[in-house]
Amino acid sequence: MVDLHIHTRFSHDSEEDPENYIRKAVELGKKAVSFTDHYDYRCIENGRQIPLPDLKIYTETFAELKEKYKGRIKVLCGLEVGYCREAVDRYIEIYERYPFDFFINSVHMVKGKDCFHNEFSKGLNAKEAYTLYFEQVLESLSAPYPFQVLGHLGYASRYTDYADKKIRYADFPEMIDRILCKIVEKNVALEINTSSAGSGSLLLPDLDIIARYTALGGRMFTFGSDAHTVARYCDKEEIVKSALSDLGIKRCCYFEKGKIVWEELA
Ligand SMILES: [Zn+2]
Ligand SMILES: [Zn+2]
Repeated sequence: MVDLHIHTRFSHDSEEDPENYIRKAVELGKKAVSFTDHYDYRCIENGRQIPLPDLKIYTETFAELKEKYKGRIKVLCGLEVGYCREAVDRYIEIYERYPFDFFINSVHMVKGKDCFHNEFSKGLNAKEAYTLYFEQVLESLSAPYPFQVLGHLGYASRYTDYADKKIRYADFPEMIDRILCKIVEKNVALEINTSSAGSGSLLLPDLDIIARYTALGGRMFTFGSDAHTVARYCDKEEIVKSALSDLGIKRCCYFEKGKIVWEELA
């Protein structure tokens, strides 16, 4: 499977050289390697704007790598955009201006407070906090900029400090159904994110939510390790494959120049 969610030195929280991933992907016989560095415009973490990459340099770097590895592996240039209402015009503009293959739309902030330092859930119980998080995800799905993937549904649970942090479908059926129905309707892929350490779940979203998505007609899955070092590249790929195969899913997808490309799981 193509790992559709990885970070490099263009993200504020990674120092990895892009070519380390490319060499690893070639070694593993991958069809494509797909970069999705952070771009969290107007998103404030610990009181500071999260550092942003220079998109001209970013897209030029991957255009050069595309050329360099032509014939050996496809190099895709995506971006993980952090949703917030104030950022939408900027994301429309950059999608038009730069040659991205796709956007992952992610929620890292809830009502102006970041999830990473767990600011958003202070003073709230798990039900209240996760309801706010889901409301923000739902709002992000109506964003007017193009995006092809919903990133790490359930992300908020990675950083909360509840004794039972896991997000279960049974606890939020209506909210989760609204989100899943919306992505089915919009033809947006559901990412299976394997950076789930600390969330209480094996995968993000949890297996019961993945199963519910298929029950609602969802068939567009992407696999994302959310690696920030090459050591985590394609982490838990076999677990994702077998979870999908248990649900009767035979293929997943990736995106090239905004268009879907299917990949058989066999
Ligand atoms: Zn993210
Ligand atoms: Zn990420």
